[in-house]
Amino acid sequence: VKIAVLKETRPNERRVALVPAVADKLAKLGAELHMQSEAGLAVKLPDTAFKNVTFAANPQGLVSDADIVVSVQPPSLDVVNAMKEGAILISFIYAHKEVELTKLLRDKKITTFAMELVPRITRAQAMDALSSQAALAGYYGALLGATSIARMMPMTTFATGSIRPGTVLVMGVGVAGLSAIATARRIGAKVEGYDVRPEVKEQVESLGAKFIDTGVDARGAGGYARELTQEEKDKIASVVTKHIQAADIIITTAAIPGRPSPKLINKAQIDGMKSGAVIIDLAAEGGGNTEYTVPGETVSAGQVTIVAPLNVPSLLGEHASELYAKNQYNLMELFIKDKAISIDWNDEVLAKSALTHAGEIKNEAAKKAVE
Ligand code: NAD
Repeated sequence: VKIAVLKETRPNERRVALVPAVADKLAKLGAELHMQSEAGLAVKLPDTAFKNVTFAANPQGLVSDADIVVSVQPPSLDVVNAMKEGAILISFIYAHKEVELTKLLRDKKITTFAMELVPRITRAQAMDALSSQAALAGYYGALLGATSIARMMPMTTFATGSIRPGTVLVMGVGVAGLSAIATARRIGAKVEGYDVRPEVKEQVESLGAKFIDTGVDARGAGGYARELTQEEKDKIASVVTKHIQAADIIITTAAIPGRPSPKLINKAQIDGMKSGAVIIDLAAEGGGNTEYTVPGETVSAGQVTIVAPLNVPSLLGEHASELYAKNQYNLMELFIKDKAISIDWNDEVLAKSALTHAGEIKNEAAKKAVE
């Protein structure tokens, strides 16, 4: 089985889809590994760090006889055009944003496993790159908050006097939010969490934080949230506003699959925040969770700062790459058997992760968005 690993080319992308430890494991599965030159350089993995791997500079040449092509971000049209018909691609795709690419993958009869489609079920946790990358982002967001504010977080007693603990509010408590809460707790902040899925309460409390109960239940399909009605938004605002305005740091992570980020904080709420407070908006990729957010930039609204970094997992590129490569390895392990590819379409993880196969778009939502 020939596997080709691409070098990432998109802006802000520092990750790489293969790390040396995973290369060794793939070699043991019987894979022949080919990698684009300097693919790991952004995370300080020079080509010499990889054993069992041959390098080539030209991506089209690299993929032309590969059975499996792997990357983090969706590959370019040129690269897909150079792939063999019937080959396998594994990467993040987000088909609704990659219409032309998805059609090409369909027409080239590529079997595409889209990492964002890996189902959120217990058996697929080891392949779940959304979770591994979100956990890193939440950790980074909490630390970015702590270093973006001119205050200390832990309660501290100095000879001169004491400092009270800082208050961190985490809005949207999925994987990233839980990781942000745990990190903010470790640095001694008082932490509150809020989400529209009530089952989150227990998780928030188990991390030693307080859950803000708004009485709204907006559980949607597959464990995700749905969009809110205006009435629900008003009900939430009546409870959450005072917590927003008491916080030193707010970390927002709210997302709704396939939709722009919900606006959790409006301008009036920000205008009433404490002077010197900071918002870390981890939903910048989807447009952001506040009305002031400018994705990729740091902006001031009066005395409040709103920081909205893009591709946060890439800022922890070394660990992000390691976890991502392992997620992909665990997926490949499901269909590389006795040194050959054998896909069992009755396997729920493979069936649900498939975006395209044999000339068809297999995912219903993607099919609707693309065709
Ligand atoms: P996500 O990135 O889609 O969203 C982040 C959070 O934002 C979610 O908790 C969501 O409820 C919340 N949110 C959306 N709109 C909101 C609003 N208006 N106000 C406040 N919060 C809002 O979510 P995710 O982190 O990818 O996790 C989604 C779900 O999948 C969770 O239920 C999680 O526990 C579950 N999950 C399950 C597994 C598994 O069982 N293997 C693995 C990972 C995640």
